[in-house]
Parts: sequence; C-alpha cells; structure tokens
Amino acid sequence: MAAQTDIWDAIVIGAGIQGCFTTYHLAKHSKRVLLLEQFFLPHSRGSSHGQSRIIRKAYPEDFYTRMMKECYQTWAQLEREAGTQLHRQTELLLLGTKENPGLKTIQTTLSRQGIDHECLSSVDLKQRFPNIRFTRGEVGLLDKTGGVLYADKALRALQHIICQLGGTVCDGEKVVEIRPGLPVTVKTTLKSYQANSLVITAGPWTNRILHPLGIELPLQTLRINVCYWREKVPGSYGVSQAFPCILGLDLAPHHIYGLPASEYPGLMKICYHHGDNVDPEERDCPKTFSDIQDVQILCHFVRDHLPGLRAEPDIMERCMYTV
Ligand SMILES: Cc1cc2nc3c(=O)[nH]c(=O)nc-3n(C[C@H](O)[C@H](O)[C@H](O)COP(=O)(O)OP(=O)(O)OC[C@H]3O[C@@H](n4cnc5c(N)ncnc54)[C@H](O)[C@@H]3O)c2cc1C
Repeated sequence: MAAQTDIWDAIVIGAGIQGCFTTYHLAKHSKRVLLLEQFFLPHSRGSSHGQSRIIRKAYPEDFYTRMMKECYQTWAQLEREAGTQLHRQTELLLLGTKENPGLKTIQTTLSRQGIDHECLSSVDLKQRFPNIRFTRGEVGLLDKTGGVLYADKALRALQHIICQLGGTVCDGEKVVEIRPGLPVTVKTTLKSYQANSLVITAGPWTNRILHPLGIELPLQTLRINVCYWREKVPGSYGVSQAFPCILGLDLAPHHIYGLPASEYPGLMKICYHHGDNVDPEERDCPKTFSDIQDVQILCHFVRDHLPGLRAEPDIMERCMYTV
C-alpha cells in the first residue's frame, strides 16, 4: 500500500481551461494537487488553445448572467496575481432580426440583473457601425461588459501560478487507466498515482476515459473551423478602432460570432457556432476536411454584412466544441 504522503489530495485530468482553473482553485485551498496532461504544453489539439475568446454577460438564462459576475471577478483576480492583462473590454454587439425572441429574452435578463446594456434600432446601428451592412432590418443589443479574453496567455498564467502555489503540472502523460477506490489509482503512460479525489476535465476525450468505467455521458464533439478574414483597409475592424465583438443570433441557421482584429494583425476572427461531429483524434486529419459547408455560410455572412473584409478566409484553424 502507498504511504499516506504519496497520496495526492486531488488529481485533475486534462490541462485545458477547465482543468487549469480547477487545479488553480484546489491549490489555492492548500490541496496537494496534480494536473495531468496527455500532450506537451502548450498544445493546440483540444478546445482551449488560440489567443482569444469572447466573455460576456449577455445570456438568456439568469443563472449564467449571475455566474458571469463572479467569473469577471475571478479573471480580474487572476490578472492581478499574474501581473499581466488577460482581458480587454470591447463590448459585444448582438444582432438579430426585429422578430427574434432570443434578443428580447437576453435584454430582459440583462435588465433584471442590472447589467449595463443598450438597445439599438436599425437607424442607430447604421449610424454607430458604418462598417457593418444591415440588410434585413436588424436590430442590436450592446452588452457593455462584453470583451475578449487572451486564452493562451491565461492558460500559461494559470499553469505558472499553480506551480507557485505548490501544485504540480505533469504534461506529456496520458492517463490510460483509472482504478476507482479510496484512494483512486490513476495510471499514465509513465507512472501510477493515487489520490483521495479525482476530477476529469478531459473535454472531447471525456467519454474515452469514462468508457472503461462503464460510464457514458451524452456528449457530442463538433469540429469548429476557426476563420480569420483580412481587412481591406487595415485597422477598420480592429480593437484600436473600438470595433466590438459581434454575435449574430438569427442571421444563419446557427449563431455567427466575431472578434475585432487583434491577434493576427489585419485579420478579424469570425466563426460559425456549429460543425461536424468529430472524433478528437481525427480533428486535424486531412481526409476529414472535405465538408466545409459552414465556411460557405461564413463567406455569405461576411460578403453581406462586413463589406470591409475580403469574403474568403485567409487563415483557417481548428478547434472542438463538446456539447
Ligand atoms: C473555436 C472556438 C471558439 C470558442 N469561443 C468561445 C468564446 O468565445 N467564449 C467562451 O466562453 N468559450 C468559447 N469556446 C469554448 C471554450 O473554449 C471551451 O468550452 C473550453 O476551452 C473547454 O475547455 P476544456 O478544458 O473543457 O477542454 P480542452 O481544452 O479540450 O481540455 C481537455 C484537456 O484534456 C486533455 N486530456 C484528454 N484526455 C486525456 C488523458 N487521457 N490524459 C491526460 N490528458 C487528457 C486534453 O489533451 C486537453 O488538453 C470556444 C471554443 C472553440 C473551439
């Protein structure tokens, strides 16, 4: 039997944003915690890589908006601890047709939760956002709290602080077996560990890990094409021009969102909130690249609504949603 000191308080499997934040909080609560990651860090094979994500309080459900108040505080605290900027407030412009019930629901939630926002008529939109072409009498809702998170930078900051707090991060160690019990035993490609608690934050790989334990969660993994579109006039859709993040609610079969040009100079990130089912091991496999219907939808959106961008993506990267 392992000596008590060899037993971790907690093991966390997967160093994406969920696993890193979980480990950070456990380490802050003085737990002896071990974070295991199958790939060498940093890596781009999961869901948390890349330089940017949108953060917002504009949700239809009250509980998400309430939860986001706490999230913003946590991000601000992490920025202070890391001594670096991880968040930039840009505002988020939600767009929809006048009849869209989702827009009204979100606006009601923001009002009820006391979140700073503004409703914009078609006329307001045309005046305020001359770079956007409104073709269907769209109306807007501006979430003043919306902004961009620096994703890769945040992962790095968290991993650094975890180690400062006494936690351990082991990358390049894939978990290959979990033996339930008290303590639980976790076998990786290199070693065997024991812990009093186990947290699985394996994103798209979750069911692969759970399968041998006879557990299957109703999860679906979608491949997302992350597209970057070149500005015809450099800077016209940039953060420095105070261009906001955008979220189109009913301008295509699924949501379309965009982030102002910042991470790649002169390129705005615009993505479709849907994709094909994918096995996480095959996300980047060339033979699965043929279906790019979602990119065609984005091309139409850009051509119709963002005339200052070239209507073909300059860069396409990949990511996954697990829903
Ligand atoms: C294109 C795109 C845009 C997005 N935009 C936004 C946005 O604007 N705002 C927002 O809030 N969210 C956004 N998201 C969602 C957000 O990025 C994800 O919800 C989040 O990154 C999920 O993190 P995770 O830690 O659960 O998963 P992952 O990042 O996938 O982490 C899981 C980790 O587990 C590891 N792992 C798996 N199996 C094992 C094993 N056996 N042993 C060891 N390690 C293992 C993996 O290697 C991986 O590192 C976006 C996602 C994508 C793809």
